Amino acid sequence: MTPRIAIIGAGFGGLCMAIRLEKAGITSYAVFEKAEAVGGTWRDNSYPGAGCDIPSHLYSYSFEKYASWTRRYPGQPEILGYLEHCADKYDVRRKIRFATEVTDAAFDGAGWRVTSRETGTAGASRTEQYDVVVAAVGQLNRPHMPEIEGMGDFEGVAFHSARWDHGHDLSGRRVAVIGTGSSAAQFIPKVAERAGHLTVFQRTPNWVIPKPDAEFTPFVQSALHFVPGLQRAYREWIYRYAEGTLYPALAGGWSTQLLKKRALAHLHTQVADPGLRAKLTPDYPPGCKRVVIDSRFYPALTRPNVDVVTDRITRITPKGVETGSGLHEVDTIVYGTGFLSTEFLAPIDLTGRDGRKLHEQWKDGAEAYLGIAVPGFPNLFLLYGPNTNLGHNSIVFMLECQVDHIMRCLPYLVSRGPMEVRPQVMAAWTEQLERAMERMVWGNGCRSWYKTAGGRVTNNWPGPTPLYKRLTSRSPGPMYKYG
Ligand code: NAP
Repeated sequence: MTPRIAIIGAGFGGLCMAIRLEKAGITSYAVFEKAEAVGGTWRDNSYPGAGCDIPSHLYSYSFEKYASWTRRYPGQPEILGYLEHCADKYDVRRKIRFATEVTDAAFDGAGWRVTSRETGTAGASRTEQYDVVVAAVGQLNRPHMPEIEGMGDFEGVAFHSARWDHGHDLSGRRVAVIGTGSSAAQFIPKVAERAGHLTVFQRTPNWVIPKPDAEFTPFVQSALHFVPGLQRAYREWIYRYAEGTLYPALAGGWSTQLLKKRALAHLHTQVADPGLRAKLTPDYPPGCKRVVIDSRFYPALTRPNVDVVTDRITRITPKGVETGSGLHEVDTIVYGTGFLSTEFLAPIDLTGRDGRKLHEQWKDGAEAYLGIAVPGFPNLFLLYGPNTNLGHNSIVFMLECQVDHIMRCLPYLVSRGPMEVRPQVMAAWTEQLERAMERMVWGNGCRSWYKTAGGRVTNNWPGPTPLYKRLTSRSPGPMYKYG
């Protein structure tokens, strides 16, 4: 028997799963995609300046290397184009149910009853039987809108960075940007170029390091395409640099001070005004929040038409943003306020064995063995699940490890029945994770999207990525119970 598999999401993770199934000759799967196109986060985040700060030669599938990247850090359209290319090349579009959202899934003792309906409608729902559910909804798919008094009264145009209003021309306008994370750092320079005046509301400064972008000329692209092993070696070099230099900086290792020095040197080189520099200097260790990798952010903040306001926002009025220093009148507000990152899998209602609810089980923070398997939820597998995010390397590497693990699981669940991670394996996993977490920089000293309101780090993987690969490559057999 080949298992019937429901994949939720057609972003980097869901597409990877579908392609690996196709490669294995398994076609008994369907991909549910709430939007009308593939791409996930790379479809949703189309704000001006959007791109990846991990070089694309690494931030791409190992089985679909691509010599045609036009630069080291290409923009969002090119990354989305790559995903569309993969969906076409491996012919997985035919299996994707676009504009269809999964609302709930329940384990019935043998498999999963998956209920879906047309996105955004209260229309008729459809329930189908699958053996396996692979949830590939990502960690950063639901925009976080802050709760600020008076937001609803604003008379101008307001939108979140992941829902950019491309029909709204910013030329000459007075714009407010709230938030200064990785997204805002990318779109602020573009907004500053167009706006008449830009006020950036920064609650907490970020550590920023340069982004060594460079164009790949047709000659370099040809070399990467034709010279045997060159692209592979380049990919390997980027991976090793991230693992060998950036990871130790987050784990209290040899490069911790180096990262700080590099970020401070970047700030001093790009910002001459000591007052602005002081505002932009963080008081927590680098890496505690995701380090911003960008060379255009600071110069944008030094433009004559840009102000950085660090007073606390007290409310939004019909005319603008009010802080302790008064009202900042604007006609556009862009919320670069991040995502509901710790609410994994919300708003899907998942019911496991004996009627247990996933969101109830995770009320103090999401957890899963390898970030993939959840006790009490047989044959449910997660991609980019709890504790699999990285602050230093390519998440696509992690996704491939997870897909690899799931592929290893399939023969077991086919021959032995529904598989569920053993409680003692889960307990040991949690203990090891907690121990490894102690030495990581993101535990104390800052607020970040890596943590729940209670301070538990539910998003990040605390180890080196080769270790994760080793753990996900082991035979899954003994880790699970069956039936
Ligand atoms: P984020 O890092 O969570 O940043 C949100 C920003 O909004 C922070 O500056 C935060 O301030 C601010 N904020 C939130 N609520 C606020 C409030 N009520 N009042 C004032 N300010 C508020 O979100 P993001 O910039 O969208 O980035 C999320 C993640 O997406 C990144 O860390 C990264 O992993 C990923 N990303 C990656 C790339 C890439 O190139 N690979 C690009 C963009 C995004 P506080 O810091 O004080 O909380």
